[in-house]
Amino acid sequence: MINKSPHKSPMPTQNQKNRVFNFNEVALGYALEEALSEAKRCLDCRHKPCITECPVEIDIPAFIRAIADQHLDKAYRIISDSSVLPAVCGRVCPQESQCEAVCVRGIKGEPVAIGHLERFVADYYFTHHAEIATPITRDKEPIAVVGSGPAGLSCAHDLVKKGYQVTLFEALHQLGGVLVYGIPEFRLPKEIVKREIHRLIDLGVKIEKNVIIGQSLFIKDLFDMGYKAVFLGTGAGLPKFMNIPGEMLNGVYSANEFLTRINLMKAYQKDAETPIFKGERVAVIGGGNVALDAARSAKRLGANHVMVIYRRSMKELPARIEEVHHAKDEQIQFHLLTHLKEIIGDENGHVKRIRLVEMTLGEPDESGRRRPIEKKDSDFFMDVDTVIMAIGTRPNPMIMQSSLELEKNAYGCLVTDPNTGETTMPMVYAGGDVVTGSATVILAMGAGRKAAKAIDEKLNPSF
Ligand code: FAD
Ligand code: SF4
Repeated sequence: MINKSPHKSPMPTQNQKNRVFNFNEVALGYALEEALSEAKRCLDCRHKPCITECPVEIDIPAFIRAIADQHLDKAYRIISDSSVLPAVCGRVCPQESQCEAVCVRGIKGEPVAIGHLERFVADYYFTHHAEIATPITRDKEPIAVVGSGPAGLSCAHDLVKKGYQVTLFEALHQLGGVLVYGIPEFRLPKEIVKREIHRLIDLGVKIEKNVIIGQSLFIKDLFDMGYKAVFLGTGAGLPKFMNIPGEMLNGVYSANEFLTRINLMKAYQKDAETPIFKGERVAVIGGGNVALDAARSAKRLGANHVMVIYRRSMKELPARIEEVHHAKDEQIQFHLLTHLKEIIGDENGHVKRIRLVEMTLGEPDESGRRRPIEKKDSDFFMDVDTVIMAIGTRPNPMIMQSSLELEKNAYGCLVTDPNTGETTMPMVYAGGDVVTGSATVILAMGAGRKAAKAIDEKLNPSF
């Protein structure tokens, strides 16, 4: 029977007072009863708009129906047919702007909690099944996948399932890309990422860590080694700065550096070898998931005052809604319609103050969002000891610079055929943040799947 409640079953969370003192996961996940009750809110609509809006086209009503029927293994199989990272996506995908945005239940109440249900299914499966995925027979051509973020993992998954011999090259000593060095433990435990990647290794994907393509090996070398196609999922790891006075002072971080020190190098642990400055008054510049992750991490490191400084209003703030709520619960202050103009240092070259200016919103710009305009004579100062820049990233130029056949656009992103992901260098495909400059986990995965399909059609066309 349909559950007619207009509200989602709420997600249980870690106690709000205690959680700012630890890096443990904030959202705790549904219990079976909560998942069953939520699954019964789905109408199994005829037009299924939620599937069309999912970049990897998960059969959402089918997996939800399987939960309602208590066939939880079947629910997992349905999701994992399309997604290599269900436990990750259930936790971090911006469902409110994708599948849940078009959910028919959202017309007269809250949409079905598709993300919470996806997470429930993946967690349930891994808690109850310890078995190793059976390796797939791989008798098709060797393919090199560069980068082990969501784009590379998704491309490798689809190709190995089709029988290709896939080798995944990763520059770092750990697999997962932003999932391990960017998104903090309290949103995405690293054990969850490892668990999902392990399934891919079990299927037969070969891993080469600590190899930088464009430095240790070039794309040409990969073809000389016998790979028939190359997928570039190298992301956008180069942080942007504002080019304002004071950015070189001590105490100014890019969000990338700040979060990598915490997530990958565990700088928050007492015995960690990588140091991090634990500020008292921290200003984070930007309004996306990255800014909120940095702000909430700073709070957990012990900062008393953490401010998110964003030049547009709450309506334009791009971070996931759930994270905005969590950040507010954790006493993160939002200074909206405010822009950073200058960082001022003390006599030792450390940040001591920032100069800000108030903003107002004008006509929409090319991004469709209203353009922020400075209010005249509205400058003011704030005392801070740490500034974290979270205003965006660009693709790392290393591969582009070492491979001149690759065309890049004015933003430094790779130019590809929109239908196949193929670059200007034949049999080299790309996707994820390397093409867009910034995206989401699920969009990166969608790009990886698209490229895998194009590679398969090129190498083994079906007539
Ligand atoms: P990445 O995840 O960046 O992976 C690229 C990989 O390639 C890395 O492992 C890198 O080491 C490797 N690499 C780079 N160059 C080379 C080379 N030359 N040779 C070999 N390997 C190389 N999205 C969401 O949907 N929801 C969120 O909540 C969310 N939060 C985020 C929080 C933070 C802090 C950040 C930074 C991003 C967040 N995003 C979020 C965005 C999302 O994580 C990215 O869009 C996504 O990870 C892009 O995937 P990718 O595979 O293209 O690149
Ligand atoms: Fe279920 Fe919502 Fe999808 Fe309809 S749109 S099938 S209610 S999840």
